[in-house]
Amino acid sequence: MTTGSRLLGELVEALRCLPGVGNKSAQRMALHLLERERAGGRRLAVALEEAMQRIGNCTRCRNFSEEPVCALCASDSRDRGVLCVLESPSDLAAIEQATGYRGQYFVLLGHLSPLDGLGPEELGLDLLVRRLEEGEVQEMIIATNPTVEGEATAHYLGQLARAAGVRPTRLAHGVPLGGELEYVDRSTLAHASGTRQAL
Ligand SMILES: [Zn+2]
Repeated sequence: MTTGSRLLGELVEALRCLPGVGNKSAQRMALHLLERERAGGRRLAVALEEAMQRIGNCTRCRNFSEEPVCALCASDSRDRGVLCVLESPSDLAAIEQATGYRGQYFVLLGHLSPLDGLGPEELGLDLLVRRLEEGEVQEMIIATNPTVEGEATAHYLGQLARAAGVRPTRLAHGVPLGGELEYVDRSTLAHASGTRQAL
């Protein structure tokens, strides 16, 4: 953006690192902060700086945390016999908000993808295996995404669980509640029918 301010140009450029934010929206955001929301802008700057400095990964589940062990892992009220394995912190947030799940989690931060250099080590599977071998976990719910890579990862995780004497289960993906089959997309329906459960 051509303005009289070098700093404004830098702010616009920096905002463009956000997903879905192009030059125009970045410009709108920067001008909005300067014109009408200076206090909010300062709060945003402090929150960003703190979060980037202090948030790391939980040493037990790899979820984001500013403590060595996150609140979910440290909690006494979570069932330590059930471990839900997911690809990302956003999947964890979705399960936490949408279900009454009371077990614990393990976050892979990705899925197996040899072409992208993502192998067992990058997904922290050594940490997961150590966790399973502690003997507390009875059931491992595999909640990777229903994509080709997610399914391959699920298959691999199932083998790890069985080797450690833990029962693997797969989160069923499929028809939304209240949905009519007619309106469900074909791949979802195919997957739902492939992963049907006993009634
Ligand atoms: Zn944790």
